[in-house]
Amino acid sequence: MPDRGESESRKLLRRLREAMAGESAGQERLDRITTLIAESMGTEVCSIYLFRDRETLELCATEGLKPEAVHQTRLRLGEGLVGRVGRSGRIINTENAPALPGFRYMPETGEEAYTSFLGVPIQRLGETLGVLVVQSREPRGFTADEVYALEVVAMVLAEMAELGAFVGEGAAMTARHQQPVTLRGTIGQEGVAMGHVWLHEPRVVVANPIADDPDREAERLREAVDRLRVGVDRMLDGAAGGDAEQLQVLEAYRMFANSPGWLRRMEESVASGLSAEAAVEKEQSSARARLTQVSDHYLRDRLHDLDDLSNRLLRLLTGQGKETGAQMPADPILIARNIGPAELLDYGRALRGVVLEEGSVGSHAAIVARALAIPLVIHAERITTEALNGDPIAVDGEQGIVHLRPDDSIAAAFRDKIAMQAEAQERYASIRDKPAETLCGTTIGMHMNAGLMADLPSLAGSGAEGVGLFRTELQFLLRNKMPRRSELSALYARIMQAAHGKRVVFRTLDIGSDKVLPYMTAVDEPNPALGWRAIRVGLDKPGVLRMQLQALVRAANGGPLSVMFPFIAQYEEYVAARAEMDKALERERILGHPLPSSLDVGAMLETPSLAFAPRRFFEEVEFLSIGGNDLKQFFFAADRENELVRRRYDTLNVSFLTFIEQIVRRCEETGTPLSFCGEDAGRPVEALCLAAMGIRLLSMRPASIGPVKHLLRRAHLGEVRTVIEGARARGEQSVRAAVMEYLKR
Ligand code: PEP
Ligand code: MG
Repeated sequence: MPDRGESESRKLLRRLREAMAGESAGQERLDRITTLIAESMGTEVCSIYLFRDRETLELCATEGLKPEAVHQTRLRLGEGLVGRVGRSGRIINTENAPALPGFRYMPETGEEAYTSFLGVPIQRLGETLGVLVVQSREPRGFTADEVYALEVVAMVLAEMAELGAFVGEGAAMTARHQQPVTLRGTIGQEGVAMGHVWLHEPRVVVANPIADDPDREAERLREAVDRLRVGVDRMLDGAAGGDAEQLQVLEAYRMFANSPGWLRRMEESVASGLSAEAAVEKEQSSARARLTQVSDHYLRDRLHDLDDLSNRLLRLLTGQGKETGAQMPADPILIARNIGPAELLDYGRALRGVVLEEGSVGSHAAIVARALAIPLVIHAERITTEALNGDPIAVDGEQGIVHLRPDDSIAAAFRDKIAMQAEAQERYASIRDKPAETLCGTTIGMHMNAGLMADLPSLAGSGAEGVGLFRTELQFLLRNKMPRRSELSALYARIMQAAHGKRVVFRTLDIGSDKVLPYMTAVDEPNPALGWRAIRVGLDKPGVLRMQLQALVRAANGGPLSVMFPFIAQYEEYVAARAEMDKALERERILGHPLPSSLDVGAMLETPSLAFAPRRFFEEVEFLSIGGNDLKQFFFAADRENELVRRRYDTLNVSFLTFIEQIVRRCEETGTPLSFCGEDAGRPVEALCLAAMGIRLLSMRPASIGPVKHLLRRAHLGEVRTVIEGARARGEQSVRAAVMEYLKR
């Protein structure tokens, strides 16, 4: 950048700082700033437009346009040149504005007299807050230096805390971060929660965007970048030979940290008068703005890496760590762009809810949130930029909606809903130790699903009679290397002890599809849900399965043991898996370890094919558990993780219930014990219909036991069955309406 431009922008920034430090405040200060910029740039006009709401830009201050237009002139997003800058976040620089497509002038401003136009977005952390415009009568193209100077000024403007106060004038003059925001995301885990924001990665606060001494700032920047590089190298050394994905991320960090372009751009910003922190943030802001425009996954990941790196650099410069001294609220709702499963588990049940900007239904974090039964909303776009530590927040995990700083009516509605749920829980406590016996005298077994040691206390609390499904994969997912057999057997033994003699059905490792172990080579599959997963992996690479089975036998230590294999699709797979169990027993016998006093080996029925297996399968298998989540996705060919289709088909669809009935009948013929352990077991009306179809054992989330039992105890299965048969005879698609009608009666 040539000397002239550099000193111009520095001069401008210095005057700007004086203006900002001066006595004036609010509108007066903003007016002063536009005057200053117009003077420095030698233009007749300088105007600041700010977003009044997501769709509308408002003229908030101007030098040169008609003063009466201030707070009156408003543009829709994309309207006119200003609206286009606001929408695209890209600069428009033209010496002949009227000739540009999309140009329209606002007569009330008197801007028709001006031909040249330069508009730059006012952005903070990748979010466009408004547009800064200079215009002049004479046709002139603004030089690259002038454009740059205006960008730097826009950056400083974006840092002005009071900026928000100008928008929504006439309304409450509230700052943007005080307004209620509703964000629509995707359901990660159902449940409703209210609390206060706790940011996983608190934002670094840049107190002074303008440099006092640019040479000193340049030095600070270089020192910090040096420390960053050393730190990244150290992380790389530490990770050598470890997880390939982590290495890849660190390599990308190193590449960016050493990229001359990255450092040069920041140095230029410092040379033009920004503080080192503001220079980093400016760079981060433009990377974030790019992020919103790329859809390529790989590129997005790299831009995220760059974002993380900028955060590290900001922490080094400001000395602000993750520990900001802020106190975690008593009712924290965790906000993060993304979070690893182990980190989430560290917070544990202290959290009321979790909201992620990214994530996926099948991500490990989602699996942990599910295991912890914490409401989770994912894909809540902008949540990390909108939320501030301590903001009130309401999370609706049932609809995938987040209300940040909810207004009174929404907060009241949430409080009612939560109070009603608490009341209901109390009601359920009174039937906790009573059986789920229906009015017609049938008793339905109530078991719970678990996946963590921490779930076991719920056995007593929920009134569950046992653990119908213990998902063993969490212990594998939470580590960065394969657990050892001794670790597993110690853990399984503790789980059995904590169950105090109640039955625990351990499901062997169910990985693949959505659950990928970080330390196993990932296979690229076109259709992971239909791919190499669960028992298919266990049988093809039997090392882990054998280790796990041996750990289970050892953990039982001469007591009873129940094991089931996931995703058995045909008889032969069960035979092969069962043979592995026998081998494990034999090995343990040879080693002189006690064998289980009783052993149940079962299979999960998760593919329609198994319902049609030969009779001898039903005779040999010691029990069957319907994995309704998978069975339903394969029955309807509708991906359980795809928001577009996952709720398209009702569990109470007549065809599906008829299919369940057929499975019940086949099990009855051979006397094979049958249970149902998918999510639907925990939904009262679904559970009732499953019971009406003949299911006698349900396994569900602990919190669902109360509501399901409550309904079962008031129902007459024979009557429900008649209602279902009626709907079937009438050719209805789903029995839901008929059953709901009956329940109302
Ligand atoms: C199921 O598929 O219903 C099941 C219980 O297993 P998971 O949800 O772990 O796949
Ligand atoms: Mg399953």
